[in-house]
Amino acid sequence: MCGIVGYTGFKSAAPILTDGLRKLEYRGYDSYGIVIPERTGFFIHKACGRISGYIPSPEVSSGTCGIGHTRWATHGDPSDENAHPHTDCTNSIAIVHNGIIENYSELKRGLEKRGHVFRSETDSEIIAHMLEEAYNGSLFSAMKQVIPYLTGSFAILAVHAGDGEIVAARFKSPLALGIGDGELFAGSDITPMIGFTNRFIFLDDGDIAVITPETYVIYADGIKVSRDIQQLDLSPDQVRKGGFPHFMLKEIYEGPDVFADAIRSLTSETLPEPIKDAGSFTVVGCGSSYHAGLIFKYLMEEAVAVPVRVEIGSEFKYARTPLSEVIIGISQSGETADTLAALEKGRCHNHSTVAITNVLNSSITRMAENTCFMHAGPEISVAATKSFIAQTGILMQIINIRSNERYDEVLGRISHLMQIVSLEPLTEAVNLCKDSLHIFFVGRGVMYPVMMEGALKMKEISYIHAEAYAAGELKHGPFALLGPETPVIAVCLPGRTYHVMISNIKEMKARKTPVIAIGEENDTELSDIVDIMIPVPGAHLWQHVLQVTVLLQLFAYHTAAALGRDIDKPRNLAKSVTVE
Ligand code: GLU
Repeated sequence: MCGIVGYTGFKSAAPILTDGLRKLEYRGYDSYGIVIPERTGFFIHKACGRISGYIPSPEVSSGTCGIGHTRWATHGDPSDENAHPHTDCTNSIAIVHNGIIENYSELKRGLEKRGHVFRSETDSEIIAHMLEEAYNGSLFSAMKQVIPYLTGSFAILAVHAGDGEIVAARFKSPLALGIGDGELFAGSDITPMIGFTNRFIFLDDGDIAVITPETYVIYADGIKVSRDIQQLDLSPDQVRKGGFPHFMLKEIYEGPDVFADAIRSLTSETLPEPIKDAGSFTVVGCGSSYHAGLIFKYLMEEAVAVPVRVEIGSEFKYARTPLSEVIIGISQSGETADTLAALEKGRCHNHSTVAITNVLNSSITRMAENTCFMHAGPEISVAATKSFIAQTGILMQIINIRSNERYDEVLGRISHLMQIVSLEPLTEAVNLCKDSLHIFFVGRGVMYPVMMEGALKMKEISYIHAEAYAAGELKHGPFALLGPETPVIAVCLPGRTYHVMISNIKEMKARKTPVIAIGEENDTELSDIVDIMIPVPGAHLWQHVLQVTVLLQLFAYHTAAALGRDIDKPRNLAKSVTVE
């Protein structure tokens, strides 16, 4: 999430840091800040909002060492006080942090008892105070002592007043060093360093690095280690996409981690009170969020036998029948006008409201009484991919907590299973479909909304007309459109819907319709009757939901890529739909 930058050398640090933060803007952020050590204390500039207008005047600080941060708030509102850097009580240590310190409240309680006074609501500030307690003349040894106490994910840079040294630590959040001549850089990626150097080191999890203008030393488990220097001549745009040709593909590949983070973020303790024992739910969402709601309905009703009604945001205002006990509004941006209106209606009728969103302090968090955050990180591509995965993760975790039968093991393996996707048959499927005018996506049970999401992705970015149907509905009209020109993609996995799906596929084949099936590997009964088989490993139904979702995201992506579409910014679409 977000960005971090550090510089120590012979040039004035402030303009290098602010320029570096501007280059990291693409990662998404809500506030920013820089800190430059002075002889005593620090020069600090931090603020909520965009960095664009801020140009540090040379008089503010001529210091040649400093660190900077763009924040994407996870703990505490986006505000001037919560923006990084954060300092300790003596104002001699300053830190910036990307990531989440999961056990911060417990650590903060201890620090407060020992007299530390906090100036922000962030999880990150504890790091400055812990370093203060551990500091005994060496910032590196303080960091070495503090790190084992932290759980979660972090990329941390720390500086001490009066010093030109930066201490960097990394665990599950990216952090790289840039090696120049008489100057060294640090960054969450190499974009801010391009133009200054082409020699980089990518730190490993657990590494602590000490950098000065002339040297760097990297430690793992307290022992000096050497890490390869990579020479890279990349353009800033190539770097921003992490080597992927589009943000969408990068974000699809982030899906497994995002799913793991989403399920970790919700426990029986943090589950909003009204959800714990509600006897009925209404879920409201638009586009992909609506589909996540439908998946919730199928799985919740089966596992917990609690009725779930799912409504499209824009239609909810016309609903007249009594609402359920709890209304859950799902919106990635937290600004979707129709979903906000739906929650407002729920509140007016005195229902409990819960928001599921990716953006802290967004309008939906103020509208709803309770919020579950997706922690998916900024999603830049217009088409929702990892945010849909995070929503599904949160909703599955709700069912898991509510159900008598625990699904912890099933959920725990999903991230791994999502990574096993066969790309070869997918390429064949793309070749079969890319010149079609229409594609049908069919499935039964929970696979029906999964296919709705797949068809939506295809429409959004390839501009091919893709329509999802519950397989049983085909005979009630759409069958008139089937034939050799209109491929069908069908999910046919072992379980309650298997045999009837096989019959449906045979009916399609009798009309000479090309059929691409997503089925379990080694299922010859299926592979014998279809044109292309995309195999997935045997798994639990919940796991299949995510596997098929990722496959369909990749299917849409590669089809759009083959057609040369503007994938990250599809025509006529916006990321955040703030009008009704
Ligand atoms: N968890 C920290 C905060 O909310 C850091 C967020 C980030 O990665 O920007 O301040």
